[in-house]
Amino acid sequence: MSDVDWAGRVAVIGGGPAGLMAAEALAAAGCAVDVFDAMPSVGRKFLLAGKGGLNLTHAEPFEDFLGRYGERAERLRPLLQAFGPEQLRAWAAGLGVETFVGSSRRVFPVDMKAAPLLRAWLHRLRTQGVRFHMRQRWTGWDEAGALRFESPAGSARVQPAATVLALGGASWPRLGSDGAWWPWLAARGVALEPLAPSNCGFDVGWSEHLSQRFAGEPLKSVAIAFEGWRQRGEFIVTAGGVEGSLVYAVSSLLRDRLAAGGDAVFELDLLPDRPLAWVQQELAHTRGPRSLATHLKTRLHLSGLKAALLWEIVPREAQADPARFAALIKALPIRVKAPRPIAEAISTAGGVPFEAMDEHLMLSALPGVFCAGEMLDWEAPTGGYLLTACFASGRQAGQGAAAWVGR
Ligand SMILES: Cc1cc2nc3c(=O)[nH]c(=O)nc-3n(C[C@H](O)[C@H](O)[C@H](O)COP(=O)(O)OP(=O)(O)OC[C@H]3O[C@@H](n4cnc5c(N)ncnc54)[C@H](O)[C@@H]3O)c2cc1C
Repeated sequence: MSDVDWAGRVAVIGGGPAGLMAAEALAAAGCAVDVFDAMPSVGRKFLLAGKGGLNLTHAEPFEDFLGRYGERAERLRPLLQAFGPEQLRAWAAGLGVETFVGSSRRVFPVDMKAAPLLRAWLHRLRTQGVRFHMRQRWTGWDEAGALRFESPAGSARVQPAATVLALGGASWPRLGSDGAWWPWLAARGVALEPLAPSNCGFDVGWSEHLSQRFAGEPLKSVAIAFEGWRQRGEFIVTAGGVEGSLVYAVSSLLRDRLAAGGDAVFELDLLPDRPLAWVQQELAHTRGPRSLATHLKTRLHLSGLKAALLWEIVPREAQADPARFAALIKALPIRVKAPRPIAEAISTAGGVPFEAMDEHLMLSALPGVFCAGEMLDWEAPTGGYLLTACFASGRQAGQGAAAWVGR
């Protein structure tokens, strides 16, 4: 590596979807590109994302799509207008990967997998002249402003014409992204937001009985409500708490409430298809000698985990009061104590704020250094929104770096 003349070359650090897209934009603009990654191969989290079916993007109307990025939506608007769901699907098709719109308008490759797309993409990038340097861990800058790398072969210094940082967040660190970059950027004067788990599970602290009997079981066809937010779906009861898609969807609200020192209690609707009046009426039905558990099972079809949650949370006196019990079946309070650690989260919130960059995603504090992907301070629910914004910001940063080098 040390023999290379770096003067005209651009370094992309991080070979996830954001970094690879930056490399593609740079190569398309005629730049000489080197991709560095700490891992033995690129795209490890992308491949993991493909395990349960690669949800590339989402096919809802653009304004709804944009709205999923919450407070950062307007910052991301130009990036997603330039490279949003439609462009992403066309881009995948260009790599020979056709996509389809699945249930709830999520978009997947026809074969659901990430590996064929990544393989075709890497092949194309190499053909375009992009060079890959694996097992190269970036460890910050030296006194002269050169990038420092550590590898099994030793250390190296690289001083490229521009740098794109696409280092990911801090979730699933064993796949390469560990958030180690945070103090290095902070030390160079970049005002960063703390990293926090996003799309994460929570600790609840179940009784031993519930934990041992039901850990790992899904709660299907339920709804969660929290301060005006309400959504239907499913989630999983873990040994100590809750996780899964419906919990991830409300996780930023619960996390922020806990961080602000508040009580985070969501309401679980165990029968979202049934109005409260119907539940009350069924509960009030004479049950004769039958136990309450049998009554719940026969009249309301509440058994197993759903019933266990009721026994866990509903106080005895409320069990004897059909009106109160019915209200709790429709709004069972679940108090979460803490988010699960960021290493377990699907994604990361916090990082490089848009205010610290120009419109090309170049850091104001470090001219010539661009940032992209999950290391930027935005978050979104699962559903293809994460990858889409990583691709879009990678492209923007790559184009910005190309313009910077060619200026
Ligand atoms: C289980 C799971 C399933 C998911 N499923 C989906 C899904 O279906 N749809 C969706 O939209 N999103 C999904 N995501 C999220 C998505 O995978 C991430 O948002 C996305 O991969 C982030 O891309 P990135 O390029 O910003 O970072 P990453 O993909 O994390 O890539 C960053 C790269 O930087 C490298 N790196 C980090 N630090 C250094 C360093 N110091 N030196 C050198 N290299 C370094 C890493 O090795 C890594 O290769 C899922 C995530 C998980 C955990």
